Amino acid sequence: MKCDMLIKNGSVVFPGKGVQQVDLMVERGKITGILEKSDHIEALQVVDAIGLHVFPGLVDAHEHLGIYNSPEEDFLDTKQHAVAGVTTVVNYDRQIQSYLELFPKFQEIGEKNSYIDFTYSLGILTEQHIDELEETVRRFGLTSFKFFRNYERQLNDKFKISNGINLSSHDLVRLLTKFKSISPKLLLAIHCENMDINRSLIKDYKAAGADDGMRTWSLTSPGYAEAESLLSTLYLNHIVGGNVFIVHLSSGASVDVLEKVPWLMESGVKVETCPHYLTLTEETEMGLDAKVGPPIHGQRDSDRLWEGIANGVINAIGTDHVPNSRAVKYGPGNGTFDVLYGFPSVGALLPMMITEGHLKRGLPLERIADITSYQVAESFNLPQKGRIEVGADADFAIVDIHRKKTITPGLMHSRGDYSVFDGREAAGWPVYTINRGEIIVKDGQPLKENGRGQFIRRFI
Ligand SMILES: [Zn+2]
Repeated sequence: MKCDMLIKNGSVVFPGKGVQQVDLMVERGKITGILEKSDHIEALQVVDAIGLHVFPGLVDAHEHLGIYNSPEEDFLDTKQHAVAGVTTVVNYDRQIQSYLELFPKFQEIGEKNSYIDFTYSLGILTEQHIDELEETVRRFGLTSFKFFRNYERQLNDKFKISNGINLSSHDLVRLLTKFKSISPKLLLAIHCENMDINRSLIKDYKAAGADDGMRTWSLTSPGYAEAESLLSTLYLNHIVGGNVFIVHLSSGASVDVLEKVPWLMESGVKVETCPHYLTLTEETEMGLDAKVGPPIHGQRDSDRLWEGIANGVINAIGTDHVPNSRAVKYGPGNGTFDVLYGFPSVGALLPMMITEGHLKRGLPLERIADITSYQVAESFNLPQKGRIEVGADADFAIVDIHRKKTITPGLMHSRGDYSVFDGREAAGWPVYTINRGEIIVKDGQPLKENGRGQFIRRFI
């Protein structure tokens, strides 16, 4: 009998464990063997990974498909994710309507247009969302949600509604309590930023006529605004015994805090940062192309974030990918306060982590696999993803960690027409991307059609 696929002669990167010379057997889309020798096994398809590293397919749990363009258009962009080695995306969306009514449409759009496997984290914005939470979890298999501390006391104005929640500390406590009563597997992803500080500073800098691009933008949300919100979030989570995932950590001040509060992290709190906070500073020549919230700060911040990864207080990477074009981003104007948030970034995810993390800073490859796949899959309740184990989905990014390419928007395969990493040289590009046992990218070229990705139902 022949198996479906053998991946031979590669250096296999087991998240958090190490790198081993083993062959991988794949049948019906699953990993069915991890073998020291596979000469006795016949396969319908053999992938020769000699000289290459076999990572688990990456899980990007932080994207905003459908935020500036239609979700149909943005899900087409998931081809770019596959080129980058990403095989699973957990997309954020937030709407004021009932998710019981809305979500079947999201799922259908993803199933028609996604190139890779996907699921969603939905923003909790209204009392109705809270009332319908348990039904939303059970009916659609959604187990992760988002809490926007950055919209605190703004929802009713922002969306012109009257049933918006305050997103106050009290709301955080009652939501975490409700989550826990439904299932300990429910996850609340939290944007931490003290908006009293942020909004007051924006007002002051605007009034003073400050308009020095990324430098001004950085000043509007100093590291301590994030660190203070982070600390209160972790403390309230500790009181409740909840399950939180801190998104897009951006500042050295937050790492300073995290290192001092292991007792608040004991329950397994995960903390994410993004490639742009690790590799860019406010001095970047990309200017306001790199405007994002929270802002990118200075070199010390990026150095401290790398230290946080090395010492374990940061344990997940997400991209915060937004597939917008320059025309969209600069639509409202070119001023510091006019340019819209976010940029396309997933295309450079693995090369940035391998080049800046492994090759420059000596971060072990198994640590990179851990924070770009396994830890994310664990947090987001995806037990079949992000790991190289018998029984897991056969999702792989097979990578040449030495061949360098210069990043261009074209290389990113996105409809976004710019890249904040433009012109940087990076190694670590996937040669093959495999999703559920199917080769979907070879030598940087997508081989399949959109619509092949599957919605992943999650269970409590
Ligand atoms: Zn985001």
